[in-house]
Amino acid sequence: MTRRSVATRHGIEDAAGLIPNVRTCARCIMDETADDIVFDEQGICNYCTGFLAKKAKHIALDEAERQRRLASMIDDLKRSSRGKRYDCIVGLSGGVDSSWSLVKAVELGLRPLAVHMDSGWNSELAQNNIANLVRTLGVDLHTHVIEWPEIRGLMEAFFAADVIDVEVLYDNAMLAVNYRQAAKYGLKYILAGTNIATEGVDIPKRWNWYKSDKRNIVGISRRFGGPKLRTFPAISTLDTARYVIVNGIRWISFLDYLDYKKAEALEVLTRDFGYKPYPHKHYESVFTRFYQGYLQPYKFGVDKRKPHLSSLIMNGEISREEALRRAQGIAYPSEKEMESDRLYFIKKMGWSEAKFEDYMRRPEMPHDDYPSEAALHQRLLQLYRSLDLKVGRLTWS
Ligand SMILES: [Zn+2]
Repeated sequence: MTRRSVATRHGIEDAAGLIPNVRTCARCIMDETADDIVFDEQGICNYCTGFLAKKAKHIALDEAERQRRLASMIDDLKRSSRGKRYDCIVGLSGGVDSSWSLVKAVELGLRPLAVHMDSGWNSELAQNNIANLVRTLGVDLHTHVIEWPEIRGLMEAFFAADVIDVEVLYDNAMLAVNYRQAAKYGLKYILAGTNIATEGVDIPKRWNWYKSDKRNIVGISRRFGGPKLRTFPAISTLDTARYVIVNGIRWISFLDYLDYKKAEALEVLTRDFGYKPYPHKHYESVFTRFYQGYLQPYKFGVDKRKPHLSSLIMNGEISREEALRRAQGIAYPSEKEMESDRLYFIKKMGWSEAKFEDYMRRPEMPHDDYPSEAALHQRLLQLYRSLDLKVGRLTWS
């Protein structure tokens, strides 16, 4: 068994960067806090090796081949949208990856509908970034708003359940909204900011849950007195299968078709679209920021900066030394900002300090201690593979 980094406030230094007695990969910065990490004789791990395998399979290595793949995908996409109001959906979170997807889609002559999901936690920065972007590009934006009492009730239930992936709620709703809009306009393509360059190092399985697990959401909500789903646009494994097989909708990791470099994208976004950067990946939502920067390291002993920064190493964007430096210490620019988010979280959820402390102290419970569609999902995955269907990142992303 590997030692999990200590999930206490005091253990933050431990949860980040190089941890004594915990083995770290010689090439990336993944370490034994990922339960299933394996090292070869050179001390290189399965996570960064997996990155290279994915890159070889999905990203064209030479420029001509890349251009050919991109042109062929765009051709198919345009053919599929003839006579339609839009060509495709672009899912927009306000982060660099999805913002860049929208910019490139427009640059390539597509007429996208931008789709955004508002769960009540957007940072002001993200709201401004999204508004500036769609205005400058002249793109229509569909925003789905989940009513706050409902999302708060669901989150309450997930916290009471002590499961690790509270973001299943956001991700499930986001998938649902994108598929619904695609079906509504008869579109076959959803271009997403999911990509190998910045996300190709997998998030360890224990750190995440399967995102189309509506049964898990409903089951946890019921068990802990949460709300019935009304404005929350849930998607189940079978809904997903229906969208993919019956509606023929494809989820495209669009940036894999481009020569995507995050730093270059950020430079152009900042210069031409009034975009303001966030301190870390996925920090466009205040909750995501607090979840990844506080709840995950202190309650669950998990630090997502490690896979994120490892992807950037493997994509040749930063050195391993730089990644180690950036993964050290707290996941906030300062203690003050971290405490300010903690107070914001407590206030917004209506919690007391005692309730927060109690939550932080309780041990993790596995998602499949509650009703789940994970087994059905595994069986469908085999079917998809045999049919060679690309369902994109609907799995344990
Ligand atoms: Zn590695």
